[in-house]
Amino acid sequence: MKLVMFDMDGTLTDSVSLDDNCYVQAVEQALGLTNIVTDWESYPHASSNGCLMEILRTARGHGPTPEEDRAVQHKLVALMHDMAERRNKRTVEIAGAAASVQAVLDAGHAVAIASGDWQLTAHHKLRSARIPFEKLPSAYCDVSHVRTEIMQTALVRARAHYDVMEFDRIVYVGDGAWDVKACRELSWPLIGIGREAQALRLRTLGVSHVLPHYKPLDEFMTALDAAQVPAN
Ligand SMILES: [Mg+2]
Repeated sequence: MKLVMFDMDGTLTDSVSLDDNCYVQAVEQALGLTNIVTDWESYPHASSNGCLMEILRTARGHGPTPEEDRAVQHKLVALMHDMAERRNKRTVEIAGAAASVQAVLDAGHAVAIASGDWQLTAHHKLRSARIPFEKLPSAYCDVSHVRTEIMQTALVRARAHYDVMEFDRIVYVGDGAWDVKACRELSWPLIGIGREAQALRLRTLGVSHVLPHYKPLDEFMTALDAAQVPAN
């Protein structure tokens, strides 16, 4: 059995610009901080709580308390809800993402989600984008702020969920430079999702197959067999 594991932000859901903004506002409003560095690639761990940890360490020398962590998550959901209600700006799917998840399942493969977002905020976005995630094994940054550990937790959950000892092949689908790094570390083939400058960036980083979205679906299904571990 083949496992297809999806990242969420920028891969299944098109929420990156909306999100960046809401994330920064949530941290500022929930914790009273300002001057947050938004070059996420400069952070040691590009996950929601990994960045929060670093923001707070820089500002005051230690990471968030569990209460502060939760306060940021709830503020973030409230801000995204507000954006949808007042400005009609909401998280949508990357074109064809929901259909591709269903098609991969229909083809008899396993599907899982591994995202650097919190479970609470990720579920909000996945629901908004109408991705059929409810029955899928998944892991979020609540289990670890290290991306490879989130992916490995999702793998353990997928093995249990689909009742297999080992998958014949694991393919990760992601959009970020950190996804390339993580797949290299785990020796997992990667399909990059990105357009224009981001697609070029992923190819330059050694990603064998880069698609702008999931249409037409057969291109994505072909890439599942052909994708390779990112070259060094
Ligand atoms: Mg992403």
